[in-house]
Amino acid sequence: MTTIILKPHKEESLLRFHPWVFSGAIVRVVLDAKHKGDAPEEGELVCVQSSTSNVLGVGHWQVGSIAVRILSFGSDSLPADFWRTRIRAAYKVRESLGLVRKDNNTFRLVHGEGDNLPGLIVDIYADTAVVQAHSVGMHVCRTEIADAILAEVPQIQNIYYKSDDTLPFKAPIEGEKIGWLVRNTEIPESRDTEEFWSTENGLSFRIDWLRGQKTGFFIDQRENRALVERYAHGKDVLNMFCYTGGFSLYALRGGAKTVDSVDVSQKAIDLVNINVAKNFPDATNHTAVAADAFEYLTAQKAQGRTYDLIILDPPAFAKHRDAVKNALRGYQRINAKAIEMIRPGGILFTFSCSQAVDKEAFRLAVFSAAAQVGRSVRILHQLHQPQDHPINIYHPEGEYLKGLVLYVE
Ligand code: SAH
Repeated sequence: MTTIILKPHKEESLLRFHPWVFSGAIVRVVLDAKHKGDAPEEGELVCVQSSTSNVLGVGHWQVGSIAVRILSFGSDSLPADFWRTRIRAAYKVRESLGLVRKDNNTFRLVHGEGDNLPGLIVDIYADTAVVQAHSVGMHVCRTEIADAILAEVPQIQNIYYKSDDTLPFKAPIEGEKIGWLVRNTEIPESRDTEEFWSTENGLSFRIDWLRGQKTGFFIDQRENRALVERYAHGKDVLNMFCYTGGFSLYALRGGAKTVDSVDVSQKAIDLVNINVAKNFPDATNHTAVAADAFEYLTAQKAQGRTYDLIILDPPAFAKHRDAVKNALRGYQRINAKAIEMIRPGGILFTFSCSQAVDKEAFRLAVFSAAAQVGRSVRILHQLHQPQDHPINIYHPEGEYLKGLVLYVE
């Protein structure tokens, strides 16, 4: 195996189990005999050693400022049962947290660094796992990962691989980035007739990972959706950036008087209608509209429309650090527009899933929005990502979702 030798003292963060080796920490690369080129291949398994030849761990080699993502600390190779052991551990955690139930078969099984599997995401939808690689190393191992999921997660029959949007842009990828890795359930050939249903806290959702966003659903809002259910009774609710209607279904079950779901994507709105019809076939108090958020709020305000409870769950406004300033302006603008439309004594659920925007900056943007439209607000809850999206304490970058529930005077 190729060996990566670190500069003196650069082993310290690894000894504390930080999973990344930065390229600047490397003094020398000793290629193993089979190498033709003069550098390791992206995705290759490498062994990392200190300047005093201490074995620190093995991980996937990457091109870029993060040169190695460690999979196993303190050893110079991966044990044969490595993938099964890690997947089993991840599944046990979800089981022990009470997420694997008859009325809840939707959960995140693997959350990258948070599950000691840097670069890997696995979401479970009933009997299907959707696997997403964020590194070439995980892409290379996709078949072993699929075998381990099949062996360790009893309910899984099918495994879909979806990494077309998540692999590094210039990576020299061989093999498919998207498609079935395992397919046991009878699934019609025609894409248009494929129907997958998954259950979250007793509510049914049609999941479309083939055409949908991310792995098909935003599992990370599960606990926050349950909180909306608690506050929805008798209220006029607006679910802005609704995607497939997660918050809307919980609001309806919570006894909302009316629920308006809005998303710019017509495909998302079609799925909202399908999901509402499945769970609440007799509902007459739900409306779904395909519209741009800013335009919708402006138009509704002009007509004097107001709400008791508004949910704002926009896509990441800042995908990189250099976009943070603009993103904060965007958060302030959309929150101001929403707060203006909340009746006195109403509630705002507002979120940011931009990893680059920190909690403090987001709060400031939301409070500035309230001040801008002359409304005073109080914090009822501070929200974050749920327990199946754990944060590795050595990888604080894994914390991305933040939310506020505000009481609007
Ligand atoms: N709340 C959702 C997830 C929201 S993801 C849930 O619980 O599942 C963000 C959504 O915002 C996407 O569905 C995307 O289509 C939508 N979106 C992006 N830009 C938008 C815009 N300008 N106006 C309205 N919706 C937008």
